[in-house]
Amino acid sequence: MTQTDRPVALVTGGGSGIGAAIARTLSKDYLVVVCGRRIEPLEIVAHETDGVALQADLSQPEASAAIVHRTIDRFGRLDALVLNAGIVEPAPVTDLPLDSWQRQIMVNLTSPFLTAQAALPCLAQQKGAIVGIASAAARHTGAGLSAYGVSKAGMVRLMQSIAFEMAETGVRANAVSPGWVRTEMGDMEMTALCGSPDQGYAQATQHVPQRRAAQPDEIAAVVRFLLSPAASFMTGANVEVDGGSSLVDAGMLAFNGD
Ligand code: NAD
Repeated sequence: MTQTDRPVALVTGGGSGIGAAIARTLSKDYLVVVCGRRIEPLEIVAHETDGVALQADLSQPEASAAIVHRTIDRFGRLDALVLNAGIVEPAPVTDLPLDSWQRQIMVNLTSPFLTAQAALPCLAQQKGAIVGIASAAARHTGAGLSAYGVSKAGMVRLMQSIAFEMAETGVRANAVSPGWVRTEMGDMEMTALCGSPDQGYAQATQHVPQRRAAQPDEIAAVVRFLLSPAASFMTGANVEVDGGSSLVDAGMLAFNGD
């Protein structure tokens, strides 16, 4: 074991997009362990952040606890957990194959549950904190997003359940629900919807008050805050980081001057 005086953070899906931005931001405060499917991008982020890369396929039930145990075995502590890994496989309810439903629920919800469950005893020792990356899809639905939306609504409630049950130990748990963010996943969805990411983001954000998608750093900054002592009285919150889109009432769009 390499004992460290630095607090340790574990970020799932830390090799790309929002997770990589979170790892870079958290490396100012923590020794960061990034985990995900592909080792090459993880190693790039680990190198940039002076952290550690762990390859794991979180669609496999045993992998979630294993990444926690590998982190604790190596460093003897865990102070922060960011449950960020996620997938989306859009399909209408009428055509959604069972294996796709199960894969999205597994990676987006069951794995966060198993990872948190394994981490909580150590987080309680450190009075640590968890952030679960949910989505605007936790609150609003859209075509083809049943499994994704259910998994993200579940993520919000999972964070609230942990917040409630663990409050007296000092562990805090909060969710962050981004609107559109410019990442590999966002680009893929925009290309599927509109043929090109730029056109897609412009169309997707035309009714968003800020009229744009977020950059991954804008999500990472909120995660860093929620994990920090500055957020010591925040637990069980779902912070919507969405350029104001949750303010928009579909029934008022016709009168908004858009
Ligand atoms: P991304 O595709 O760049 O990142 C997803 C990460 O999850 C990748 O690093 C990937 O390796 C990891 N991952 C996926 N399946 C995995 C598995 N089986 N095992 C281990 N790791 C796995 O996309 P992103 O946009 O950065 O998404 C990060 C999170 O933010 C996701 O949970 C996503 O649902 C959420 N989110 C994204 C947006 C957006 O517009 N991009 C909006 C709201 C929420």
